[in-house]
Amino acid sequence: MTTVQEKMLSDNLSRDSSGELCLGGVGLSRMAEKYGTPLYLYDEDRIRSRCREYKSAMLDSFGVRSRVLYASKAASFKRIYEIMAEEGMGIDVVSMGEIYTAKKAGFPLSEAYFHSNNKTDADIEYAIGEGVGYFVVDNSEELYAISDIATRLGKRQKILLRLTPGIDPHTYAQVNTGMVDSKFGSAIETGQAKEITALALSLDGIELMGFHCHIGSMVFDEGVYIDSARVMLDFVAEMSRELGYLASEIDLGGGFGVRYIEEHPTLDIGGVIARISEFMTEYADELGIPLPIVAMEPGRSIVADAGVTVYTVGTVKRIPGYKSYVSVDGGMTDNPRYALYGSPYTILPVASPVGEDFELCSVVGRCCESGDILQEGVRMPRGIRRGELIACLVTGAYNYSMASNYNRIPRPPVVMLSGGVDSLAVRREMPDDVSALDV
Ligand SMILES: *Cc1c(COP(=O)(O)O)cnc(C)c1O
Repeated sequence: MTTVQEKMLSDNLSRDSSGELCLGGVGLSRMAEKYGTPLYLYDEDRIRSRCREYKSAMLDSFGVRSRVLYASKAASFKRIYEIMAEEGMGIDVVSMGEIYTAKKAGFPLSEAYFHSNNKTDADIEYAIGEGVGYFVVDNSEELYAISDIATRLGKRQKILLRLTPGIDPHTYAQVNTGMVDSKFGSAIETGQAKEITALALSLDGIELMGFHCHIGSMVFDEGVYIDSARVMLDFVAEMSRELGYLASEIDLGGGFGVRYIEEHPTLDIGGVIARISEFMTEYADELGIPLPIVAMEPGRSIVADAGVTVYTVGTVKRIPGYKSYVSVDGGMTDNPRYALYGSPYTILPVASPVGEDFELCSVVGRCCESGDILQEGVRMPRGIRRGELIACLVTGAYNYSMASNYNRIPRPPVVMLSGGVDSLAVRREMPDDVSALDV
């Protein structure tokens, strides 16, 4: 007898009566047959419901003086920006390519916030020219460049200043961004933040709207947001006292954690935002300042559990006394996150759940690189073999957007599921696409 111990990570994943794995009620093998593998599949209904969850949480907690921006680096392609426009979300963009894609999707760029710690003069000129609503300015060189270019173009550019509040989010070192020694932003602790505020107020072509911070990613502890909100409000009060400048907006960044594996909790977004709001409302009152407009910019938590990646198993190598390697037709080129950060993922067979009779495997890709590993210590049904389908769950964030053509491997297509109906959002790359720029 095989007792099946398989808990699904999120409620848009299920098994049908034959045991097959489904996303948004759609069986993965039919999609694999129709579109081929490897395949990125997205549950569009889930993306929309996450947008609504954030929007209503912010509205309930902060009222109309709030904004939700989707940090589009998590998954950036035309259809995503169309969805964000339809859902009335703002967006974060970090490059000319993201701005261009959003524009092609008809996204209103007045609702876009342009991030990056090193915007080139060409980026700045392009973004101002396209009417990008806000720049999130990282440093004083950028401030001078924006001032020069905006003045030359006869514009006044709205900006937020990115500050580092000196908060440790207690997550992975690679994704900590709010510490004093980070490459991002100006530190409050060292006095740089005050200097750059004074500079922003003195320059032509710049309209300072307020302050931004982003403390890291995969944050499950709401205390981290409360701590950074306290530091940011203290700074707003300090600038009001010392420079007579009252910020009208503060942006607390993104970083909400998602459930990649069973051990990860499920965050109650509404509850966390309500408690942040409660704290901020009281604390602003205590400091005697009006509460600025509050923005948050989740990326991962909007799209992560909307996505799965479907692969076909190729070679299975069993090393007696050691472990097994299950090779799939994708790998670090479509999901570099284990190779980069050791990120945990849940990988399941598509046809039926893993029972008692399993083998422990490393699921690896097809690149010429030993580090091309999707996950280690994965339970696969004993005797898994070539031609079977497996799925890596919760790959909606930072997978397609971080994909590469290493080894000239073409990138998989992106297929959206809406109300059980599939449609292509990004077509599969072909060898011609991969060599298209060679002259
Ligand atoms: C990456 C990033 C986000 C989004 O982070 P998630 O962990 O995906 O929510 C938000 N703001 C800034 C500035 C970022 O760099």
